[in-house]
Amino acid sequence: MEKFGKSIGPLLEHKCHFWENNDSLLSKRKQIADFYASQPKRESCKICDSDIDSSNPSFTKMDVGYVLCGQCGQLNGVYKDTDEFVTYLYTDSEGDEQDDDEIDYGEEYREDDRERYDSRLENIYIPKAEFVFEALQEEGETPAELQYADLGAGSGYMIAALEELGADTVSGFEVSANQVEFAQQMNEGMDINLIESPEIYEIAATTDAEVVTMIGVLEHLQQPTKVMETLSQNPDVEYVFLLVPMFSPSVLFEMSFPSVMPRHLVAGHTHLFRESSIDWLCEELGFERRSEWWFGEDMIDLVRAVEVTIQETADDEIMDLCNEMIRDAVDELQLVLDEKKLSSSIHVLLEST
Ligand SMILES: [Zn+2]
Repeated sequence: MEKFGKSIGPLLEHKCHFWENNDSLLSKRKQIADFYASQPKRESCKICDSDIDSSNPSFTKMDVGYVLCGQCGQLNGVYKDTDEFVTYLYTDSEGDEQDDDEIDYGEEYREDDRERYDSRLENIYIPKAEFVFEALQEEGETPAELQYADLGAGSGYMIAALEELGADTVSGFEVSANQVEFAQQMNEGMDINLIESPEIYEIAATTDAEVVTMIGVLEHLQQPTKVMETLSQNPDVEYVFLLVPMFSPSVLFEMSFPSVMPRHLVAGHTHLFRESSIDWLCEELGFERRSEWWFGEDMIDLVRAVEVTIQETADDEIMDLCNEMIRDAVDELQLVLDEKKLSSSIHVLLEST
């Protein structure tokens, strides 16, 4: 099954702060990029491990060089995501914001958390779970009867969405104590477990779930291929459902608008997938691409870049015209990219073969 496009409307209400706080978010991301650029050079591809020439980047953004892998095509930042970098990034709680998680875990939970949680669940995660169910039905499965494990479960959104659709057995595993606690506050009795980062490989090896989901997680792991290899060797795991970020036009827009906060190729995204690198993973490790849903945020990134840039000099009338000229057409524009499989992310159901 192939599916393309999704209306950006519901997502926009979760992203207003990208417009309102451009300058402060931009400077935070510059700091992260500077820290990343102080790490040792990456010598091999993050996915296929073949040698890459980090001394000769294909392009540079925020003073970080990037190269395409000659073997699998993955886009690699030229520095390593060392333990030090990962600790810096995720204890700052900045990494999750990239994946639209706006909750500030450092503060007391606020009264409107429940409303925001339910809205994110409904608009962002229920559609993902519905797609998983539809894709599994297409494989002849009865989705509600399968067991699910969600690795990198965050605040439990994917677990909650699968349960809402009727899945009985869903477990989640998450490294952030704050997020686990928040997930449990929002969902009484949810089976979400706090783990240390290295435990993810052990869980991949020993889970008896037939379906493993990783929503915006694989790209953040220090050894993404190892976890996929482990899942492929686990005889109980039949399907892996991934959301991963792709090298897409968003990156070109980020290169073109250096004064606008980059969303896609920055911070925890030190490398981006391409169809060829997903195919490499499948062929090497024994997976088959079964169902895919292509939708991206490239065009909303472009709209934001334009609006943030012109609002310095444009009056309200021009900003309104800007709405008419591009913002109102954003779904249609994005659909063109999605149908060409050029979106900034892919949801894919892989079958272990
Ligand atoms: Zn590679």
